[in-house]
Amino acid sequence: MKYQTHTFGCKVNTYDTGLIQKNLSNQGFVHTKSHQESLNSEVADQPRIHVLNTCAVTAEATKEAVKMIRKLKAQDPFCTIVVTGCAAQVDTDQFENLPGADLVVANSHKSLLPGLLNDYFKGTLKHKIFKSNIFKKEDLEQEGGIESSHTRSFLKIQDGCNSFCSFCIIPYARGKSRSISILDLVKKVNELQSLGHQEVVLTGVHIGDYEDGQNKIEDLVETLLLQTSVPRFRLSSLEPIEVSDRLLELYQDSRMCPHFHMSIQSANTDVLFQMKRKYTQTEVRDSLLKIDKKIKNAFIGMDVIAGFPTETEDQFADTYLTLATLPWTRLHVFPYSERKGTRAADAMKVSVPYHERKQRAQRLRELSANRYQERGQAQVDQIQKALVLKNSAKGSQALTRHYWPVRLPNSNLEELKGKEINVKLDRFVWSGGSSQDGYLEGSLI
Ligand code: SF4
Repeated sequence: MKYQTHTFGCKVNTYDTGLIQKNLSNQGFVHTKSHQESLNSEVADQPRIHVLNTCAVTAEATKEAVKMIRKLKAQDPFCTIVVTGCAAQVDTDQFENLPGADLVVANSHKSLLPGLLNDYFKGTLKHKIFKSNIFKKEDLEQEGGIESSHTRSFLKIQDGCNSFCSFCIIPYARGKSRSISILDLVKKVNELQSLGHQEVVLTGVHIGDYEDGQNKIEDLVETLLLQTSVPRFRLSSLEPIEVSDRLLELYQDSRMCPHFHMSIQSANTDVLFQMKRKYTQTEVRDSLLKIDKKIKNAFIGMDVIAGFPTETEDQFADTYLTLATLPWTRLHVFPYSERKGTRAADAMKVSVPYHERKQRAQRLRELSANRYQERGQAQVDQIQKALVLKNSAKGSQALTRHYWPVRLPNSNLEELKGKEINVKLDRFVWSGGSSQDGYLEGSLI
């Protein structure tokens, strides 16, 4: 039978979808094309099964999945819909009585999905929901997937989280932190390289939690640099206290892309305390200054939440002024949104009015837009190595090691897809929107 997967949320989910595809294909189910293509294809080719690998990071994310279930059933009332992923684990009630959701397989049971689907079609299943205590989950589903159409490969090194930040639902959706062994990851990276992948992004739910016996993230990176020859490594996301001197030392190896994604969430110590983050404003400052000092022209992106329930106007101003004086490249700003099942949403009696959250977010976005332009301009006339993308995202045809999107208007890159090239960066193009919209125009050298 033909199936199609639909992935919501983060890169870890993308990786996990790869495993779902592998497991289903191994059981004789036939993977069909992307959603858009299957819509245009003959009914005969329409997949009979839709597997939704859902996200629950916000209430909105779960609603997206419910919306898609209704749409798919409207398109084909006889198709079978399987809901798996984080929303199936923490928002199970949203699918329990949802007519379109035929089978709900929470993260606790994700690896059993093909067998459950077979039993479903045999009619031997007694109920539609399969879920248990996620904190008892040991397996890591490590043989996840490689999106062959991608140039850059996201490699899951870790899953789950032990932090329980007060605004976050992820530990309840993915369980405690678990890591893939260094041995398996070296094998995986060499496999990716043999398949032609030029860049590997080490990803996970909380990669700073990485642990293989006594080994930490620094040991993993060091071993990968020694035992593999992939040209580009990138780390997905780190917290300020996880940017150790030893890790920054490893960035002296040019294969480590000088790009940091930091989930800081705030730069005010009282707010960080209420968020149950394990660092203060001082550690935010120190980590950024350290990177700036040790890694020349590093690209630093940061996640920030605006309008956390306990955040006062003064505390927000403190975050804003602190960030304005520190070195970074761009902010990803999220107005706080209540997530049922988190301490911040369920237990905190105070909250910031929604319009006020949006205003604070807008102010941070403006700060970020100005900074991104400044840093973009500073790249002009530089020569940087850029990886030509197979699928040009948002119009950018290549990505520098520093994480700058590049377009090469006067070059035909067809033959160079998946290859790394030297580019002279000629000008920074800014469309005036948020700090996600600028790119560099360059020429091949
Ligand atoms: S570190 Fe905090 S925000 Fe990140 S996944 Fe864990 S609990 Fe969520």
